[in-house]
Amino acid sequence: MKRKILIVCIAFALIFVCAYFSEIRAYQKTEFLLDTYVTINARGFNAKKASEECFAKIRDFEQKCSVYIESSEISRLNKTGEFSLEDETVRLIKNAKAYSAKTRGAFDITVKPLTDLWNIKNFSRVPTDSEIAEALKKVGYNNIKISNNTVCLENGAQIDLGGIAKGYLADETAKIMQKYGVKDAILDLGGNIYTLGKKEIKIGLQNPSGARGEYFGYVEGNNISVVTSGGYERFAELNGKKYHHIISPFDGKCAESGVLSASVIGKSSEKCDALATAICVLGVKDGLEIINSEPDTECVIVDENNVVYLSDGANFKITDEKFIRGN
Ligand code: ADP
Ligand code: MG
Repeated sequence: MKRKILIVCIAFALIFVCAYFSEIRAYQKTEFLLDTYVTINARGFNAKKASEECFAKIRDFEQKCSVYIESSEISRLNKTGEFSLEDETVRLIKNAKAYSAKTRGAFDITVKPLTDLWNIKNFSRVPTDSEIAEALKKVGYNNIKISNNTVCLENGAQIDLGGIAKGYLADETAKIMQKYGVKDAILDLGGNIYTLGKKEIKIGLQNPSGARGEYFGYVEGNNISVVTSGGYERFAELNGKKYHHIISPFDGKCAESGVLSASVIGKSSEKCDALATAICVLGVKDGLEIINSEPDTECVIVDENNVVYLSDGANFKITDEKFIRGN
């Protein structure tokens, strides 16, 4: 009798141990954050703990930096024109300025007066030329002055980190995974992908004119980020014309560069994010030129005719025959 009880106890203990380990070895969760869906898939010891810390990091950053949250330090900076910010926010703003210089001003976090004017989220009308001209006077990354942790916005400038935040957080969450020793993970911050792991995986690129989840080809790699920007992501329609959320800091209008989508591949998701947005403003030729002059990034650009342009070292395969290579 005693032996039977012992066997049953051991069996229960085994079941419990197996259940415990399978639960912490593979973890998947989606949360609505940063105005999009964030999904983390992680495998390995500590997968759950690490994933929860990643979500906490994203939540904290959103509270600190979102322009939609009045108490965020970015909102307070925009309101007052001068504010002392936390180290991490100052670092990101400095990096954003450097991406502006690299992209000849196509990526510019001071576009906020223009994004407010276009208000694509609740779009109701096309702004007038004089409204655009007024807003443009406030735009320019040289209006951001940084001294230690104090950021000063000159000439009525306002900033929005929306074009770079997801990339930055993809890098930060990848670091959290590495800190916990999680070997395999796919971090998806609203299309900003970061893959961690030994095995190369295929990352499908969204057909910019197709249904969500319809891919026209794939990038293959490991421990890399793939970031896609395009007007098709968020847009409004009026009188048969589409207006989208990527604004040209040059003319103050929704970017009309002929680029439907730009995907940038590299180790720094932050950099990929900034450059992907910039390519949508700059167009195919200048976009390719910038990426080809960067040693650590590649890109896949799709134009309005489904012609696909690749940077010199891009590892991309077209799978949809409606798309053709342009270079
Ligand atoms: P998504 O947010 O869809 O991933 P992006 O990374 O391209 O796309 O970022 C678009 C967001 O960045 C916009 O919603 C806006 O807040 C901001 N933005 C728009 N145009 C620019 C620009 N030229 N430079 C920097 N940020 C921009
Ligand atoms: Mg971006």
